[in-house]
Amino acid sequence: MKDRARVVVIGGGLAGATAAWGLARRGHRVILFEREERPGVHASGRNAGMIRRLVAEPAIATLAREGARLLGEPPADLARVLDAALVRRTGSVLLAAPPEAAALRPALATAQAAGLGAHEADPRACALHGLRPLPGATAFVTPEDGVGDPHAVLSALLRAARAAGARVECDAPARVRAGAAGAVGVETRGERFVPADVVVNAAGPWAEDLARAAGASPPPLSHYRRHLFYTGPLEGIDPDAGWVWDVSQGFYARPESAGLLLCACDEEARPPEDARPDAAAALRLAEKAARAAPRWSEHPVARLWAGLRSFAPDRLFVIGWDAGLRGLFHLTALGGHGLTVSLALAEPVALAVEGRTPAVLAPFAPTRLQAVPS
Ligand SMILES: Cc1cc2nc3c(=O)[nH]c(=O)nc-3n(C[C@H](O)[C@H](O)[C@H](O)COP(=O)(O)OP(=O)(O)OC[C@H]3O[C@@H](n4cnc5c(N)ncnc54)[C@H](O)[C@@H]3O)c2cc1C
Repeated sequence: MKDRARVVVIGGGLAGATAAWGLARRGHRVILFEREERPGVHASGRNAGMIRRLVAEPAIATLAREGARLLGEPPADLARVLDAALVRRTGSVLLAAPPEAAALRPALATAQAAGLGAHEADPRACALHGLRPLPGATAFVTPEDGVGDPHAVLSALLRAARAAGARVECDAPARVRAGAAGAVGVETRGERFVPADVVVNAAGPWAEDLARAAGASPPPLSHYRRHLFYTGPLEGIDPDAGWVWDVSQGFYARPESAGLLLCACDEEARPPEDARPDAAAALRLAEKAARAAPRWSEHPVARLWAGLRSFAPDRLFVIGWDAGLRGLFHLTALGGHGLTVSLALAEPVALAVEGRTPAVLAPFAPTRLQAVPS
């Protein structure tokens, strides 16, 4: 890899923005193309903002801890361009019945060994925003967790990338093309061909189609629509109280704009698309809330929206080189962790693009899932 490689990043969500920042600050010549008129229109602008360190999957937990730390203590070049804090510390509670609690305990031990104050508690001693745990459930409390500001994170990443020399073009749908002599490149508005040493595929739900259309062999991805609901202002909400997630029943709540943000953790398989709310979503929230948070099952919803979460079959991220098309680097399938891990990806992704293999990314290699062309 050249010292100053030409890198095109496709996608202006959190994945693309962190890649552009990580690569530009290491001296590479970066252009980011985003199809929409502005960045962050899809999952990156529609998420719940929860910064969660306690994750059962160890490889994701490592990145989550580092990503959460960096959101609280951004590196100097990111701190210089901030106009808002990236995260607010509130603490968090995961409610887990015995099977899920058993899966979380190794993560808890690792978090404690890393110096976090995470611990188990009696759910009755926690503020639960009306959630009703299953019998025998344990509360996993992480005082360091909090709520991130996805818009602040995305705009800081893009600003820092620009300050380091990256170019960001919106309203620029891109296609990957094989160039002369096996080189890779990107075609965008007006059939303009932009040659590159590396193309970073951070196109979110569209990443698989984008790669396949270029003759690459991307891993299969699935996309699931999830709805979020805002209750409107409520009496007695403490804006600084932590978020609460019942991982056994699939329901979470956190303070938002003097009310609560609620989610029934729905997962409906969808094609890559601009996710719109489903007419029956509020009904499904009410049904789930009747068991998991009865106080909210009859409560009217002031606003709802939907987004897609993209996953590989094993639910690990997809980060690394395509097995078929030289120069194509995938950075996608961040599932429900993309905000938390975003900052932690910048440096290892840049190193990987330079041809090194950071250990932290090894579990996410696309080749674990790709059909290698014969
Ligand atoms: C409802 C919901 C709740 C969530 N809650 C949390 C949470 O609490 N905490 C957390 O950490 N994470 C959460 N997430 C996950 C997080 O939002 C995602 O992991 C992350 O936003 C994925 O970022 P991305 O850049 O990969 O995808 P996207 O944000 O979808 O970005 C992909 C971009 O690529 C662009 N693009 C696609 N094709 C092209 C093309 N051909 N040319 C140019 N541009 C193209 C798209 O327009 C889009 O802007 C949540 C997600 C959802 C949907």
